[in-house]
Amino acid sequence: MIPEKAFERLLGLHECWEVTGAEYESAPVERFFLVIHETAKLWPQLKCPIATCAHPEVVCHEHTEVRVWRHLDAFGKRTEIPCEPPRARCCACRHVWRVPLPWEGEGKHFTRDFEAFALPLMREMPMKKAGDILGEHDTRLWRLLFKPVAKAYAALDLSELAHLGVDEMNCRKGHHYLTVFADLVARRVVYATEGKDHTTFQRFSEELLKHNGHPKAITAVAMDLSQAY
Ligand SMILES: [Zn+2]
Repeated sequence: MIPEKAFERLLGLHECWEVTGAEYESAPVERFFLVIHETAKLWPQLKCPIATCAHPEVVCHEHTEVRVWRHLDAFGKRTEIPCEPPRARCCACRHVWRVPLPWEGEGKHFTRDFEAFALPLMREMPMKKAGDILGEHDTRLWRLLFKPVAKAYAALDLSELAHLGVDEMNCRKGHHYLTVFADLVARRVVYATEGKDHTTFQRFSEELLKHNGHPKAITAVAMDLSQAY
């Protein structure tokens, strides 16, 4: 089996995409990269994404500028996928859209497989250390982390929250505080906000209402009886 075909299989690509190059270069950055293009079989598989149209005849409109996705390392070398993502056009309503790529993750710069490896690492250790292991700048990793967190937070259901734990923590040097609210039964943090005064409780109540909870449903609170609160 030629290497390109082997990488197609490893990436789980089907007939719509092909690896046209598997290359290694030592400069300017040492990396291994896989060049991927769509095949002619892609277009008959697509249909217009506009619900009222959904026309099955779709053609290639253009290719956008090359973008690079970081993938899991191969042979311990930084591995990347450069690709010019194709844009499709509906033959009926002429709507144009960027075709989703089978390897792309939630973030802009990483493949789905890379994210599946990086996210648990970020959960287990400080971001700087995860960045050192992954060979990535921590700003790109923070951006990657915020996406799934925002998605999970939007879906958070607090309708069962009745036993609340509240505590403050010092978040930076000096008097910068964070008030953290936790569900003591589910044993998880449900909200955190800057400051440690009564307005933090107002903000928490507003969040509670947005996530199917209600302040009156809370029957027990464990917290410091600080004057500020
Ligand atoms: Zn259409």
